[in-house]
Amino acid sequence: MKEITCKLLVIGAGPGGYVCAIRAGQLGVDTVIVEMAKPGGTCLNIGCIPSKAIIHAADDFAKTVAMAAGRNAMGIKADNPAIDLAKTMAWKDGITGRLTLGVAGLLKKAGVKIVVGRAKFRDGKTVAVETETGEQVIRAENIVIATGSAPVELPVLPFGASGAKVISSTGALSLTEVPQKLAVVGAGYIGLELGLAFAKLGSKVTIVEALDRILPLYDTQLTQPVGRRLAALGVEVLLGTKVKGLSSNGEALLAETGSGEEKRIAADKILVTVGRKPVTEGWGREELELDMDGRFLRIDEQCRTSMRGIYAVGDVTGEPMLAHRAMAQGEMVAEIVSGKRRSWDKRAIPAVCFTDPEIISVGMSPDEARAASREIKIGQFPFSANGRAMTLSAEEGFVRVVARADNHLVLGIQGVGAGISELSAAFALAIEMGARLEDIAGTIHAHPTQSEAFAESALKALGHALHI
Ligand code: FAD
Ligand code: NAD
Repeated sequence: MKEITCKLLVIGAGPGGYVCAIRAGQLGVDTVIVEMAKPGGTCLNIGCIPSKAIIHAADDFAKTVAMAAGRNAMGIKADNPAIDLAKTMAWKDGITGRLTLGVAGLLKKAGVKIVVGRAKFRDGKTVAVETETGEQVIRAENIVIATGSAPVELPVLPFGASGAKVISSTGALSLTEVPQKLAVVGAGYIGLELGLAFAKLGSKVTIVEALDRILPLYDTQLTQPVGRRLAALGVEVLLGTKVKGLSSNGEALLAETGSGEEKRIAADKILVTVGRKPVTEGWGREELELDMDGRFLRIDEQCRTSMRGIYAVGDVTGEPMLAHRAMAQGEMVAEIVSGKRRSWDKRAIPAVCFTDPEIISVGMSPDEARAASREIKIGQFPFSANGRAMTLSAEEGFVRVVARADNHLVLGIQGVGAGISELSAAFALAIEMGARLEDIAGTIHAHPTQSEAFAESALKALGHALHI
């Protein structure tokens, strides 16, 4: 096969890689992207999008079940709700299919050449790709490593063990029947998002978490409403508990609580969600001399690795392993390769957990702001005092703003509440634009919307909230 030469070669077409390639193509950079699976990476195929589709379907189903059980204050009645999970999955697959086709179309529109196969470095400028029709060698002036991440496997619970009982998030997102009993190992992002969804779909869910709290990334004030929802859905959460493996007959998950009590958790499926690891093997890293930063590839503020002409973006480069961080890095690298002067100067990367209710955090938490030895002001406004939240039966939660006490510069914004993920744009923009409390309080927020809680939280920090 004839060798390809190009200015930019991107390895991996997840959010980091495909955004990089599209932007480079738009800028007229001669670009090739290699992907061994489907365009869109983890995010579009087995991550963000499919999980949010299932979460939404589960939510709708749980509301209908509550209506059928007469637990509906609005007077809506329903009879015998049922869910056909195979159909739900087919609907989800339709969405991911449209999106991945869309990404391929966008790459083509930007003039990017797509090579399908596994890429492996030969040296710092040459990559060989195993394609269906043979080996394709590609030489490039610049190469971007965007190989992403994969689920962490527990040695005591390998994926696929006991007749496919032990599954990763990928397995959970392709189940065609709702497991009667689902054990979830890890109460982080995926464990809680999917654990809640399956509880709503009707599974008896037990979550085992090694630490003494759920969602350790977020402060307890933010996670308390999620804890209450888990309890209301009958989800058992075993904190400070270690998993030991499967019972000898493979029917149950064995665990040990912090006080040494042995637990036997009967389960049809065991979903292991104990974190993700960067994909740093399988693409010829041994042929290069790349500095590492722990388990991740080391990069600088321009996403340059320790080797000239080799960049890295996305999950392979570190925390937070989030799609929007990968995309922002990818876009920046494309511009740098095209000759523009860019460096990473983002103020904040929003984090949203699509639990029930949703949690959001942008910038510094109160503890982080205090640790940075700042005098701070905090304003918190509850959704129970927000008209729109009442009309949505979504009064649980609040918006909290953290600002410097001296000049009122906003340092962080957090919140928990139904549908609050959509406020992430306003929160991130406020921090990116260097807003002060007065800017937020002085912005007219449409009525009735949940966003009014944002303005009210700023007013509260200023000492004169209007609606509480
Ligand atoms: P990836 O998306 O992992 O893409 C890497 C690509 O590289 C893959 O397509 C892979 O096939 C390809 N590749 C690897 N090696 C090679 C090779 N040698 N040759 C060719 N191709 C190769 N993030 C959010 O921001 N919001 C969410 O709501 C969210 N939900 C998630 C839910 C789940 C269940 C999971 C698992 C993840 C979720 N994430 C979410 C995380 C998000 O998916 C990742 O942060 C994001 O996909 C990282 O993008 P990336 O481009 O770095 O890598
Ligand atoms: P996570 O890091 O969010 O949570 C893992 C949890 O497992 C932690 O609470 C940890 O204490 C626990 N744990 C670790 N080892 C354990 C053990 N042996 N027994 C019991 N508990 C154990 O990891 P995740 O949920 O697998 O998600 C991976 C990553 O994917 C996230 O960190 C995030 O970057 C990304 N993601 C993001 C979103 C989102 O943005 N909404 C959604 C899903 C995934």
